[in-house]
Amino acid sequence: MPEPRSETGSHDPEGRQAIRENVRRLCKKFPDEYWRAVDKAEEYPAAFVDALTASGYLAALIPEAYGGSGLDLTEASIILEEINRSGGSAGACHAQMYTMGTLLRWGSDEQKRRYLPRIARGELRLQAFAVTEAASGSETTRIQTTAVRRGDRYLVNGQKVFISRVKQSDLMMLLARTTPYDELTDKTQGLSVFLVDLRDVRGKLDVQPLELMLNHHSNVVFFEDVEIPAENLIGEEGRGFRYIIDGWNAERILLAAEAIGDGRWFVDRAAAYGRERVVFGRPIGANQGVQFPIAQAFAHVEAADLMRFHAAARFDREEPCGAEANMAKLLASDAAWEAANVCLTTYGGYGFARDYDVERKFRETRLFSVAPVSNNLVLAFLGNKVLGLPKSY
Ligand SMILES: Cc1cc2nc3c(=O)[nH]c(=O)nc-3n(C[C@H](O)[C@H](O)[C@H](O)COP(=O)(O)OP(=O)(O)OC[C@H]3O[C@@H](n4cnc5c(N)ncnc54)[C@H](O)[C@@H]3O)c2cc1C
Repeated sequence: MPEPRSETGSHDPEGRQAIRENVRRLCKKFPDEYWRAVDKAEEYPAAFVDALTASGYLAALIPEAYGGSGLDLTEASIILEEINRSGGSAGACHAQMYTMGTLLRWGSDEQKRRYLPRIARGELRLQAFAVTEAASGSETTRIQTTAVRRGDRYLVNGQKVFISRVKQSDLMMLLARTTPYDELTDKTQGLSVFLVDLRDVRGKLDVQPLELMLNHHSNVVFFEDVEIPAENLIGEEGRGFRYIIDGWNAERILLAAEAIGDGRWFVDRAAAYGRERVVFGRPIGANQGVQFPIAQAFAHVEAADLMRFHAAARFDREEPCGAEANMAKLLASDAAWEAANVCLTTYGGYGFARDYDVERKFRETRLFSVAPVSNNLVLAFLGNKVLGLPKSY
């Protein structure tokens, strides 16, 4: 009988297997014990992020001309998938890939020359992305943090919530309001994107860590007359929401890949435990009540993976992919969550024991259906923009 395994990797487009295997090798140096310890101590997995940076894989999306690997989104997604599949959490560093698109696409040549080579070399970290605010929530066009131009600077005032890795980053991408909401006829205008250099902040930037159910290093961030040089405005003033939206498809596809990685981890662990754990004189996996949910979760993860590669291929061919990227995020986060529940159930009481890592991954994978966008808003997008139903958001 062949070695049982849930993972196929068979959806990999040709030539991508080498990336998968290289990342897998790197991740082997950071086993369950490592992730369990950083989770328990609520520490940032700095050693892992440093190793990934040194390998060049965190700079996957930076073009070779700026010192990066010049890989496409499909390949970048494989990197994040493998991290989660190994038992780790790409959430510790994935923002560097998410935010990169905005800088690459809308940043000036001067901004790209100034920042990208140093990010590629690992000298600068671009890990923080500040969009969400308490009062506006999912309705991003309602954000209230303002950036007011004063000569060659902008003065920023307001507050953001759930902003991850601010303390582990040198640069933060910030979405702020440059025109009051009431003065706009087109409510998607009036927001702007800035690159904030966290190493040299003028004004008061207060970062208060949030206690969360997972090790994610998120914060409430208060801005009081924080000065940003006007040269750090990305693209045109007032068009920031457009720039952020442009990055959403990449973000959803990358996140779907992380969820697929988690889904495969859960299915593998559940199947292995089902084969080994003997109760009533036989492996628990011999019972259909245990076996079928695992098989079902496996099928759902594999199906979601097809949508993820389909969406990524469309993105890489520069074809419209909003529907596919959103469906990939929806299906992958649902499949990962189903696999998480099945795995926890398969482990019985041990699913709750920290030493088995299931509860940690269970907490981590739950995030995919909520952030960076909740699945309700994904469904609302599909309903309205793809199916032509009335807008509900
Ligand atoms: C661990 C973590 C890390 C995060 N990191 C970052 C970060 O680095 N940077 C950043 O900017 N943000 C970050 N976020 C914020 C995240 O993007 C938001 O939490 C998310 O977008 C949802 O916003 P909200 O929490 O305000 O929910 P709300 O907008 O208040 O929504 C609450 C619920 O109502 C539902 N809902 C709202 N409106 C509708 C509607 N019209 N139709 C149907 N359902 C609706 C939502 O789907 C959701 O279920 C992070 C969040 C978490 C939990």
